[in-house]
Amino acid sequence: MCYAIPGKVVTIDKKIATVEYFGEAKQAINEFDDLKVGDYIYAQGGYVIKQIPEAEALSILATWKETFFQLHELDLRLSRMDLDKTGIDKKLAVILDKAAEDLPLKEADLLHLLNLEGDKELEYLFKIANFLRQKHLGNSCCVHGIIEFSNYCSQGCAYCGISTHNKGIKRYRMTKQEIIDTAYEAIEKYGFKALVLQSGEDPHYSVDDLADIIREIKNRSAVLIFISFGEVGLAGLKKLYGAGARGLLMRFETTNPELFAKLHPGRTIKTRLAHLEEAFKLGYLIITGGLVGLPGQTKEDILKDILLTKKMNTEMYTFGPFLPHPNTPLKDAPPPPVRDVLKTLAVARIADAKNAKIVVTTGFETLHPKAREEGLVAGANSVMLNVTPAKYSQNYTIYPDRAHSGESLQEQIDETLGILRGLGRAPTDLGVTNA
Ligand code: SAH
Repeated sequence: MCYAIPGKVVTIDKKIATVEYFGEAKQAINEFDDLKVGDYIYAQGGYVIKQIPEAEALSILATWKETFFQLHELDLRLSRMDLDKTGIDKKLAVILDKAAEDLPLKEADLLHLLNLEGDKELEYLFKIANFLRQKHLGNSCCVHGIIEFSNYCSQGCAYCGISTHNKGIKRYRMTKQEIIDTAYEAIEKYGFKALVLQSGEDPHYSVDDLADIIREIKNRSAVLIFISFGEVGLAGLKKLYGAGARGLLMRFETTNPELFAKLHPGRTIKTRLAHLEEAFKLGYLIITGGLVGLPGQTKEDILKDILLTKKMNTEMYTFGPFLPHPNTPLKDAPPPPVRDVLKTLAVARIADAKNAKIVVTTGFETLHPKAREEGLVAGANSVMLNVTPAKYSQNYTIYPDRAHSGESLQEQIDETLGILRGLGRAPTDLGVTNA
C-alpha cells in the first residue's frame, strides 16, 4: 500500500529540488544533505521525505504508470465543464465565468456563491470548483493518517464532546510506546507518508514528551508529521519543530471574535491565530479552517474564515460541519445542511483555485454518507484516514456516531481507494506544480 509515487530529482537549487513525475515537474523542499540529481524520492506536503533506491523506484513506477494515466483520463472526463446555463441567473453565470477563467472575484461575488440555494445553481457552482481543481492541481489526492492518542482535555470548548463538559465519556491515553508503534505500523505496513498526531489539550504529556515521541517516530521511519495538540505555546511550537514536526493542524474554528469568545471560555482568537502565524514563520505547513454551521454564525463569517485561511498560506483547508454532542452546552443546536458544507468547499476552491488542498472531513462524512464522493467533485482533493487503534478511537467522541468508527484501517483504506479510483484520483501528494 502506498500513498505517494516516487519522483526523480532533476535539479537542486539550494533547498528546492525539482522532481519529475511521469513528465510533470513539481517542487519540494529538500532537507537531505546527500540528495543528488538523478536520485529517486518520495515527497509529501512539498517536502522530500525519503530517498529510495533506483531499482525500487523503477519497479513501483512501472506498476503505477498505466493506472496513473487511466486515472488521469477518467478525472479529465469527469471534471469537464458540460454546463447547462439555461435558467441560470445572469449574475451567477458572470461570476462563475470569471472564476473559470481565473479572474479574481470580489468578496461580494464569493458571498453570492455562499448564499446560493437552488439545485441547478449549486450544481453549476460545484462543477466550476471541480474544473478548477482539475485544471490547477490535477488528480492527486492527499491521503493523510491521523492518530488520536488522548481524549483527555483541559478545555471547555462549547461544542466539543471531549471537552471538560462531557462527564460521561471514557477517557483514554496511549502510552508513548503505543503512539510510536501505531505510527510505525501506519508508515511501514500501510504506507502512510504523512501523519497527524492529535489529542485534547492533555497536560499529562509535556512538550518534551511530545518532542520525544516525534523524534522517535522520525528516527524509525520517513514521514511528514503534523502536530495537533491544541495551544502548546510559541516556545512549544519551536521545540516540536526542532524534534522534527513539519506541520501544524489547528483550526481557528471561527474568525468571528464574539462567537469565538463565547464558545471558548478563557481563550482568545488572537492567541489562536498567533500560534498559526508563529508556526508558519517557523516553517510549519499549516492545516487550518473552521466549523461550518455554528449557532449564530453567518455566511459573511464563513467567507471571512475562507479568506483568512487563504491569507495564512495554508497548506490544507479543513472545514467541517458543527455536529451537536448531547453532553455539551450546544446539544440542542442543529447541524448545518449538507449543501452549506459543499458550498464552503467549493468557494474555498474558487477563492484559492491554484493552491488549495481541501480535505473532506470525517465530520462531513458523519453528517452525510456521500460526503467524499460529493466533496471531491465540489473542489476538495484530500482525505484523512483514522489510524488510531479502534479500541481507542471509538472514545474520541468529539461528536457522536463518528463515521468509520470501529472500522479497521484496512477497511478504510480499501473503501477510500475504491472511491478515489471511481473518481479518477491518484492517492498521492506530489508537492507544488512547477509554474
Ligand atoms: N486539541 C486540538 C484538537 C481539537 S479536536 C486543538 O485544539 O486543535 C479537533 C477538531 O474537532 C477541533 O478543531 C474542532 O473543530 C473539531 N470538533 C470538536 N467538536 C466538534 C463538533 N461537535 N462538531 C464538529 N467538529 C468538532
